Amino acid sequence: MANTKNTKNVAMHWFRKGLRLQDNPALLHALETAKKSDEGRLYPVYVMDGDCYQLKHCSALKANFLVECLIDLDKSLKDVGSRLYVVSGDPTKELPALWEDWDVTHLTFEADETGEPYAKARDESVMNLCEEKGIEVESFCSETIFPLGDYVKKSGGLAKVPATMGKFQGIFGKMGKVPKPLNAPTKEDFKPIIDKEQAKETKGKMLPPKRATDLPWPRDTPKADATPIWGPKDCKNLTPITRGGESKAQESLSKSMAKAAWVAGFEKPKTSCTSLAPSTTSISPYMSVGCLSPRTVWHAISNAVAQAPASAPKSKPPVSLHGQMLWRDFNNLIAHSANQDNPGSWGKMEGNKYCREVPWSENERFLTAWKNGETGYPWIDACMKQLETEGWIHHLGRHAVACFLTRGDLWQSWEGGALHFEGQLLDADYALNGFNWLWLSCSGFFYQYFRCYSPVAFQKKNDPHGHYIKKWVPALKNMPAKYIYEPWKAPASVQQTAGVKIGKDYPLPIVDHALESKENMNRMKEAYAAYKAGGSKAPSPTKKKTP
Ligand code: FAD
Repeated sequence: MANTKNTKNVAMHWFRKGLRLQDNPALLHALETAKKSDEGRLYPVYVMDGDCYQLKHCSALKANFLVECLIDLDKSLKDVGSRLYVVSGDPTKELPALWEDWDVTHLTFEADETGEPYAKARDESVMNLCEEKGIEVESFCSETIFPLGDYVKKSGGLAKVPATMGKFQGIFGKMGKVPKPLNAPTKEDFKPIIDKEQAKETKGKMLPPKRATDLPWPRDTPKADATPIWGPKDCKNLTPITRGGESKAQESLSKSMAKAAWVAGFEKPKTSCTSLAPSTTSISPYMSVGCLSPRTVWHAISNAVAQAPASAPKSKPPVSLHGQMLWRDFNNLIAHSANQDNPGSWGKMEGNKYCREVPWSENERFLTAWKNGETGYPWIDACMKQLETEGWIHHLGRHAVACFLTRGDLWQSWEGGALHFEGQLLDADYALNGFNWLWLSCSGFFYQYFRCYSPVAFQKKNDPHGHYIKKWVPALKNMPAKYIYEPWKAPASVQQTAGVKIGKDYPLPIVDHALESKENMNRMKEAYAAYKAGGSKAPSPTKKKTP
């Protein structure tokens, strides 16, 4: 039902995820709507909302990444004759004020299909407000290869949504061809709706920030002694692994895809997690805010594979690059399914149909040492330092630290680990983070708790000299290779020559891995037995001594 006061179509596209022009059906629909009437207009808008998933638990690095994405988006919109309008605050208050100012008749946005509780409540409120004000609202799904609802239908209903990757691959195989990504709108496309008045009207409305000190985040300052750093210029010294924005995302994707034989033969488990440069595509930060659409990535992979020499080895899902994109859709579908079953249960242990309850203990000292990279296990600490500095770690590094925190060594709940990742990872993603933490803690999808990563042996064979450790844990930079994974075993004379005193300049191991991992396997066995006997009720928490 269009606003009766207006004869012209005034469309607003509300960016949330999907921070891109390419393959953005909601933006294109808003543009087409605006063009349908003589004096139509389009307002692309982003609301800086400190309560949304991307910003609620947010390191300065991550906030910077988002600001960079918005600046880049604004630039791309300016190149086609438009611009991005950014306001700060609660979307249910800020959007209606803009609708009023601009006589908005139509609203489009990218749907959040996972059922993430804040996004769900926010979108329902905004849609109700639209109904009250007679604004036509339409949402679109392009954050997964196929809309999640279509996977559910193809599965035969919610109850039959596949819970294993193998079965998901079966459903995916029945979905038909992956649609080609939609082209980004051009200057020509925007021409009919650009008018000079538009610039005047927005006087006083905030535009993408150069510095973001007046914005509502970060809510949690990352560390007491850390100065929040805002704006791309100030971020220079942080050497983050990626710079934000669709144009950088396209560059990064093209760079990876140019290595056609590498793409064709990609096998995730064989990529190195100790290499100093990423050994995988490292597009995940872009995927998490939608600077790249999954259909764009899918077809880029297909093209690269087609260009690879016929003699080059070809990998297949689930380990291939196409396979990684399937994992992503599968994780999203599972989050959707959990939240449909019990709203808001995804990302939690209790009430989550995919999660076995385990009586984790609570030990603040353990959790803090893990977060700060001060466990005394150099490989674990190096990963946590990379996370803090770059907002990214290789998948197997994530495996190691997640296992160490939960069922491996410290017996702390995966929920605390997932929350820390949410704040620190540039690629933090509601569905993927939750899924992988369930997997690594053996709470869901993977149940071989008797297979445990050793924080010592795991990487020794891949990086015998510990180059990765020496980069991220400088206290150990002169430690000989023989002791780099177990520096507490180095004799005093070796420590002295290396210029480090273990226990003073670098911590002693927080627990004895050999003992704790064994004990934890027994605890896991008990938790599984309790689950089998009585459903998902957790036994009372383990009393864990603090050494
Ligand atoms: P590539 O191997 O190049 O894969 C390309 C893309 O495929 C990725 O960008 C990602 O979108 C998708 N993908 C890759 N691996 C996985 C996977 N295991 N599950 C689902 N999708 C995948 N990834 C996130 O994007 N956000 C998270 O919050 C996140 N949390 C994680 C938490 C834990 C404990 C673990 C073990 C893994 C987590 N991952 C998460 C999954 C994975 O580690 C990253 O997606 C991957 O390392 C990103 O690097 P890349 O872009 O080079 O991946």
